[in-house]
Amino acid sequence: MLDNGRITNWELRPGCWIDWRTRGRCVIIATVQVVTSVAAATAEGRKNSKRRVLVPTMGALHRGHGELIRIAREAAGKEGDVAVSIFVNQLQFAPGGDYEKYPRPEADDDEFCRNAGVDILFRPSAQEMYAVDFSVSVEERSLANTLEGKSRPGHFRGVCTVVAKLFHILLPNSAVFGEKDFQQLAIIRRMVRDLNFPIEIIGAPTVREADGLACSSRNQYLNTTERRQAPVLRAALLQAQRLAAQGERAAPVILDAARKAIATAPLARIDYLELVNAETLQPIDIVQPNSLVAVAVFFGQTRLIDNIRLP
Ligand code: AMP
Repeated sequence: MLDNGRITNWELRPGCWIDWRTRGRCVIIATVQVVTSVAAATAEGRKNSKRRVLVPTMGALHRGHGELIRIAREAAGKEGDVAVSIFVNQLQFAPGGDYEKYPRPEADDDEFCRNAGVDILFRPSAQEMYAVDFSVSVEERSLANTLEGKSRPGHFRGVCTVVAKLFHILLPNSAVFGEKDFQQLAIIRRMVRDLNFPIEIIGAPTVREADGLACSSRNQYLNTTERRQAPVLRAALLQAQRLAAQGERAAPVILDAARKAIATAPLARIDYLELVNAETLQPIDIVQPNSLVAVAVFFGQTRLIDNIRLP
């Protein structure tokens, strides 16, 4: 449908039309308006008078994203609009990471958005988002120092920068983020507070496969054996939660039990497994009222994360 953000006539299907004011870079497919240029999205954002709820994603949409979109629809109300952004943000990938091979199934994502009742799909190119001499970024300097931030230096700088840009371009009233990436959610809340974005941040519960594995675009990297072993993350977190529910308070005991559970999967290699305060994200030795266990595990080159609140 779209060639590098431009539309060619032969690609037009019945029921689609082009807004020529945006020079062919904004198209409506059935009810989803697909926008690929920052200028068109910015103009649209300023013209929009409806309540807008944004769901930022990197695409390869799955049921987890679907739940975020459902929550966004609910928050937007009948009269509001739901915007989804799909942008694989190079800034948040480590050099040599999976940026190049990250899945980009555009036609499937279009279909997903259409079926999910999305109003606007913003899918800019990297060139649209970042000038060649791009030199400004947004950095959170407290919550980003632990867990994912420690394992992936610069990751949250990339996330905050792109989310700030999306907020400026699309001007949402609210935005929905998944609790699966709870550190990201906490950091975005902090950015919104500290930089005075007039945007409500809504957290969405983690959606899982039947065997407990959290849905993720990266699950498709797993081979059959890895996929069979991957639910061990959830099993380990549930084991930690069970122990805490039985009254265990000591982090080493709880984490040891979770580590043993992960060790039952021969292909699993723990990156980190930590008990943290869910507000400060700092490691703690004793379970507190607001505690959370976070885990990152490698299966081959694929890195999976998950977390659980403790009672
Ligand atoms: P991603 O496309 O992986 O960058 O994710 C986009 C948004 O979807 C983020 O807010 C994620 O936290 C959220 N998300 C990803 N997987 C899930 C899931 N299994 N359940 C709920 N939210 C998710």
